Amino acid sequence: MIIQLNNAITEVEQNELLEKLMSYNFSVNEVNTQFEKYLVCIGKNDFDIREIGHQTGIKDVHIVSDSYKLVSKKWKVQDTSINLGHNVFIGKDIPSIMAGPCSVESEEQIDKIINHLLQQNIKIIRGGVFKPRSSPYAFRGLGIEGLKMMYEKCKPHNIKIITEVMQVSQIEEMLPYVDVFQVGARNSQNFNLLDALGEIDKPVLLKRGISGTIEELLSSAEYVFSKGNEKLILCERGIRTFETAYRNTFDINAIQVLKEKTHLPVIADPSHGVGIRSFVTKLALSALISGADGIIYEVHEKPEEALSDGQQTLNFMESSQLIEKIKLLYQSFNFN
Ligand code: PEP
Ligand code: MN
Repeated sequence: MIIQLNNAITEVEQNELLEKLMSYNFSVNEVNTQFEKYLVCIGKNDFDIREIGHQTGIKDVHIVSDSYKLVSKKWKVQDTSINLGHNVFIGKDIPSIMAGPCSVESEEQIDKIINHLLQQNIKIIRGGVFKPRSSPYAFRGLGIEGLKMMYEKCKPHNIKIITEVMQVSQIEEMLPYVDVFQVGARNSQNFNLLDALGEIDKPVLLKRGISGTIEELLSSAEYVFSKGNEKLILCERGIRTFETAYRNTFDINAIQVLKEKTHLPVIADPSHGVGIRSFVTKLALSALISGADGIIYEVHEKPEEALSDGQQTLNFMESSQLIEKIKLLYQSFNFN
């Protein structure tokens, strides 16, 4: 059960309510986010909400049968949209496009990417500076200096930055330069990281774990929300299956299922989803047709020379063609 409290609830009213809930053997979790106050109550499923409906200080009461509560659509039917400022939204009527290199490599590379994004009217750049790599000998990113460099170049154009945070100790130094913190597939169940991201007021894009179930992804999102951060976005990026013909099995089913289960925006990452450049465009379009609120994909001036994930990275021409196709799709397809 979720109890939405009036923001002006007094301490006396809240204590009275807590006592009452405890008398019904609920374990009560107080959640204060940047927007609202909630009590997430775990216990009786057949509770009659009229027992507390008259208490003062309550805005609304919702019975939520899912194991995850605050991210469930069972209590918040209208979709959440995240405002990044300068009229850039994730989870609105138009698809959110996030594009950029797998890794930030150099000033010259970022200049060229920004130029491409501006030409295509793409408002959000992706680019990792802390890279989770399977091999310790692979390029592991430029670190915080790379992020600062990207920020200085994006700021004059109001281009928003999404980049991966790998550990709790990086959050503070990254904070001024990041618009959306990406939690990578390998960290999808790093609960300490999720807790820490729940304590900041910046959007978090949470990727599905390498072998993560939909329920696990939603539970990870619940970690962040329940620590106080409602600005959450989910990302389907493919899962590991028995199939070896491509990097991951891009789970298009998950997009519709997630849209049904949660009010959070759902983004698709076809680059990591399939891992093969020539398939990325069609999978990006398929994801949008399946109801994704946007896509995140890798683009580089010369994918063959990229320091990471070149095999799944579009060049500028392919990226421009994808954007053109997305426009045509939205003109011709009824998404409801
Ligand atoms: C990335 O976005 O470059 C990345 C490493 O993604 P994932 O965590 O999905 O593998
Ligand atoms: Mn990558």
